[in-house]
Amino acid sequence: MNRASRTPAGGPAPAAAAAPAPRPFDPRRVRAEFPILARAVRGKPLVYLDNAATTQKPVAVLEALDGFYRAHNANIHRAVHTLSQEATLAFDAARETVRRFLNAADAREVIFTRGTTEGINLVAQAWGRANLRAGDEVLLTTMEHHSNIVPWQLVAAERGAVVRVVPIDDAGTLDLDAFHRLLGPRTRLVAVGHVSNALGTVNPVADLARAAHAAGALVLVDGAQAVAHARVDVRALDADFYAFSGHKVFGPTGIGALYGKRALLEAMPPWQGGGDMIRTVSFAGSTWADLPSKFEAGTPDVAGAVGLGAALAWFSALPFDAVAAHEADLLAHGTEVLSRVPGLRLVGTSPHKASVLSFTLDGVHPHDIGTLLDLEGVAVRTGHHCAQPVMERYGVPATARASLALYNLRDDLDALVAALAKVRALFPL
Ligand code: PMP
Repeated sequence: MNRASRTPAGGPAPAAAAAPAPRPFDPRRVRAEFPILARAVRGKPLVYLDNAATTQKPVAVLEALDGFYRAHNANIHRAVHTLSQEATLAFDAARETVRRFLNAADAREVIFTRGTTEGINLVAQAWGRANLRAGDEVLLTTMEHHSNIVPWQLVAAERGAVVRVVPIDDAGTLDLDAFHRLLGPRTRLVAVGHVSNALGTVNPVADLARAAHAAGALVLVDGAQAVAHARVDVRALDADFYAFSGHKVFGPTGIGALYGKRALLEAMPPWQGGGDMIRTVSFAGSTWADLPSKFEAGTPDVAGAVGLGAALAWFSALPFDAVAAHEADLLAHGTEVLSRVPGLRLVGTSPHKASVLSFTLDGVHPHDIGTLLDLEGVAVRTGHHCAQPVMERYGVPATARASLALYNLRDDLDALVAALAKVRALFPL
């Protein structure tokens, strides 16, 4: 358990845990750390396969949240009393844990946000409004989540900039030739998902960043779907900005982080005004606080940050290679067993893929699939997955999507396929 999670009432708030020693990975034992996975749904054991929407939370995170509110809760940065100091220490420790998780050079490069969406909007509003000029281009890809499309459309419309889109092939792999063709002297920013939530495609972000930088453009990476599955190293990727959500990596909802290179963040104006982001305020004009406070106006989600710190510490303590091997096995097994379901078509079959099994079933609307699977206790997502351009690319209104996390077992995928057999029986081909 993360040290942040359990401190006796009155004890000092925890500092960032030292880099934890890896512990062996046994998916069944890890699964037992997630209380919700033991519950039943509609009289059946829960089979949770909606991890791309949100992951479940281990006891370490639940206890960190509970422990914070029970023993340390106070507003941060504003008082000399003990609780406020403890809460501030815990908040700062969580930032340091995020820094280490991303391998950022400096904790001031980590801005707490509500999640990926807010992180991208921050860059679009603070960097985009100050830097985009008429005719400048922002390069996206077909597989982006709406939260990495709409913020750019908003700022492009305001600044007269243009959004361009790199296509994908039938498997859902990014068309790199098209990327290199579209990347040009007008490109100011490449904004790309690390892992697609609708297709599972893993993009070669380090290569894209190298090319973008050579063309004089910056790179923003939407890491929402990567953080629970890949080892993220913002310096190795050379990402200028990297946004993610805590709830996709075993942490609470309502908290996430944006990494930005320090020089870029320092040059950017604030995007929200309020308490904590200022150095001085007068009616003649105000001045801004240093990083990271400049971008954290108002009372932050202190408990959420503590919970996120606990989640990242918990996750980082697992042996990553063993987790990755387990997830690769699940993906291969899932692909194989689903492919045998009559009339099932996988959407997204890139060789570079992680954790997502999107599919359609001939003759059955995805929403009916979702409803019928729920009757069997199987939770999958159905719809456009906030990626309508992907649906358009494949000519489908929606897909059903099973998405994996490290606590899933082959049994879960077998249960999904058994439930799909019942759906198929109701809707014979
Ligand atoms: N990008 C991707 C690829 C996502 O999967 C999601 C969440 N579905 C988001 C961005 C947005 O994340 P959030 O809603 O936590 O801000």
